[in-house]
Amino acid sequence: MPEFLDQEYQELKTRLDELVGVLGVLPELQPEVLRKEVVAKSKEYGIFQLTQPQELGGTGAGPMALTIARETIAAANLPGSGYVFGADPGLLRNLTGEARAEYLEPVVAGEKSWSFAFTEPSGPDAPQKQTYATVAGTDLKITGQKSFVTGGAHASFYAALVNVEGDDEGDSGPAMVIIDKDSPGLEIAREFRSMEGGDHVELKFNGVIVPMRNVIGSIGEGMPRAMGNIGEERLQVSALACGMGLWTVDHITERLMQGHRSGSRLADREGVRLRYADLRIELYAARSALYRTARLAEVAESVEEIMNEATATKVFCTEMIGHVVDTAIQLAGGQSLIQGEPLEKLYRRARSLRFTGGASDILRLSIARGKFDFGAGRL
Ligand SMILES: Cc1cc2nc3c(=O)[nH]c(=O)nc-3n(C[C@H](O)[C@H](O)[C@H](O)COP(=O)(O)OP(=O)(O)OC[C@H]3O[C@@H](n4cnc5c(N)ncnc54)[C@H](O)[C@@H]3O)c2cc1C
Repeated sequence: MPEFLDQEYQELKTRLDELVGVLGVLPELQPEVLRKEVVAKSKEYGIFQLTQPQELGGTGAGPMALTIARETIAAANLPGSGYVFGADPGLLRNLTGEARAEYLEPVVAGEKSWSFAFTEPSGPDAPQKQTYATVAGTDLKITGQKSFVTGGAHASFYAALVNVEGDDEGDSGPAMVIIDKDSPGLEIAREFRSMEGGDHVELKFNGVIVPMRNVIGSIGEGMPRAMGNIGEERLQVSALACGMGLWTVDHITERLMQGHRSGSRLADREGVRLRYADLRIELYAARSALYRTARLAEVAESVEEIMNEATATKVFCTEMIGHVVDTAIQLAGGQSLIQGEPLEKLYRRARSLRFTGGASDILRLSIARGKFDFGAGRL
């Protein structure tokens, strides 16, 4: 439990711990029944609403509350924990007019779901040209491909980054565009699963027509729109990683204190203690960074102000959890790699975190660029 939490955060933490206690004693349930049960309990404790905007019935929690919530839920490592938080509208948050009613409100109400289509294909067969749109009257005509769209098979629509090629008079540049899944010319070219269990699709846009009003913000604003929520997202991935770290360290502590076939507890071996201490040191450092950045985010006037800190924290915390789970597996022994064992599952989840929201080395480049080119980022 981080120290110096204000009263309101301590109360939130108490509610979270109570919810974890209730979810922890649920019997084994079918996935859909489990989802409904977890959502109902989470709403009862006022946790589900934390990720949703106030004007749409949520409580619109700030970065610190969300950090505490996400870390606590991840640290419980319970089945169904993915249902605890209501759909976060992310970059759809600022939609206005018809688009708000058609896309944002149903997402928050759980009636529609959406996926983020940003990553372009890579590898030798990747198209040389990135996804682009030409202007056709009051519409955009979109052509291209997106390679890694999480949840894309079940999504009602996609928010995709496209490069608009305007004519001499028209606007041009990157734009985030909402594309309905049932749009003519939109093809799910491939469905696949990644090792942590996520399902994804590859999308092809074969001259897909979308009305200009589906542009989020305006043409040219694509990158800031796509990245508008990225500071918060990086903080939340970091909270997830730290929560997973808390669970892992508790788990391995218990294992090492149990008997071992050698006759003495592994916890009594000096070599094991050294490795074990490293886990605690790394987790402590990661959590310190996490809570410092959450505090900075709480007082920041804009997300740009904490972008470098959130990015540094994301790299550090996701690399920390990779190393912590890997070391815990080594200390726990080969049995922990049996499919379905908790450390085996966490290992797969931890690995994907170094890609989601940006590969670690790309984020490192962005931190260096922040300092050299913009003089941004505190130490
Ligand atoms: C579980 C999971 C879920 C995902 N969900 C989504 C999603 O919903 N929507 C979406 O759009 N994307 C999603 N992605 C894709 C993710 O955002 C990308 O994998 C990530 O941004 C890296 O891009 P890439 O895979 O194309 O790798 P590449 O860009 O090809 O990079 C591969 C490696 O090359 C090196 N490298 C690349 N460029 C440079 C450079 N300029 N300088 C130095 N080194 C470099 C780095 O080591 C990098 O890790 C998901 C990925 C995973 C694993």
